[in-house]
Amino acid sequence: MPRPIEALVDPGALAHNLARARAAVPDARVWAVVKANAYGHGLARAYPGLRGADGFALLDLAEARALRDLGWRGPILLLEGCFEPRDLELCSRLALWHVVHTEAQIDWLAAHKTQQPHRVFLKLNSGMNRLGFGPAAFRGAWARLQALPQVDEVSLMTHFSDADAPEGSGRGIERQLAVFEAATRDLPGERSLCNSAALLRHRVPGDWVRAGILCYGSAPDHPAHDIRHWGLQPAMTLRSKLIATQDLQPGDTVGYGSTWRAEAAQRIGIVACGYADGYPRHAGSDTPVLVDGVRTGTVGRVSMDMLAVDLTPVPGAGLGSEVTLWGRGPGDSLLAIDDVARAAGTIGYELMCALAPRVPVRSLA
Ligand SMILES: *Cc1c(COP(=O)(O)O)cnc(C)c1O
Repeated sequence: MPRPIEALVDPGALAHNLARARAAVPDARVWAVVKANAYGHGLARAYPGLRGADGFALLDLAEARALRDLGWRGPILLLEGCFEPRDLELCSRLALWHVVHTEAQIDWLAAHKTQQPHRVFLKLNSGMNRLGFGPAAFRGAWARLQALPQVDEVSLMTHFSDADAPEGSGRGIERQLAVFEAATRDLPGERSLCNSAALLRHRVPGDWVRAGILCYGSAPDHPAHDIRHWGLQPAMTLRSKLIATQDLQPGDTVGYGSTWRAEAAQRIGIVACGYADGYPRHAGSDTPVLVDGVRTGTVGRVSMDMLAVDLTPVPGAGLGSEVTLWGRGPGDSLLAIDDVARAAGTIGYELMCALAPRVPVRSLA
């Protein structure tokens, strides 16, 4: 028998979550963001659930090619644009739309030979200071692109750094939105501003929204809101089984470093899942986990291949009991990936992207 750990990807949940994005911004077209191998879900596995999107956004050219090979004929946007001049050949061949965020990318376009003019998204650095032209350079870049025979339509985009910030935190999107509006006023072209947090929380108008994390069933502004609040469903389940149990006496310790000590007689279970499967090693004791659908917590350090869980709330559990590390458990039990991420001092994004290659992944239906 193979080791009992597996990940399940639910196309129905992906489709449901995409529909939530549409409902939040009914007038916008929706890019399903599938960078990083569809946030760890697998591009080919995520595709059936997300094919109702108006386009796909990603940044790896090999992934763009894979998406065309899956049969996608609609728009594909390269979120970081081209990395070197010859990438433009692939853009021409596969009809990829691409972000232009720096002067060199315009130089490459000006030297590119193509029959098909390109659709480009000109990126404004409105304050995040990662990619994009600053407000002073933006119009010049726009005029340069507009004058190139290699360019068809120029669209305008920016990216928010604080769309997930709690109300009253002093951070938010207002400042960047004002910078965008001032820099783009009276420029023609479609607009794209929102990531998941911005489209769910702020519903900023625009022609295209870029829905990433919400598609996969994680709340972009957790813990202010959870997936229940936003009506999202987990697209990934990571599950395994108990492969041993231990009856502890008061004073017994568990795992490397003996960081955890039993205060009373207690039963624990050993789960076939560790950090080499992508489970966060930084998850301290009491990170939530489901055993036979019942919520309990981890005890002691996570090791490479195993972790331990408290069986006190599940006295009937034993060898072979189902353990849900995140996602959907037996019956209608559910453990949001965000709850696990929080206990490990990280975010759902990182956990789903870090699912290890040794974990077999299956698509539901
Ligand atoms: C990753 C990314 C997104 C999607 O962000 P989420 O928070 O996952 O919705 C949107 N826009 C850009 C430019 C990105 O890089």
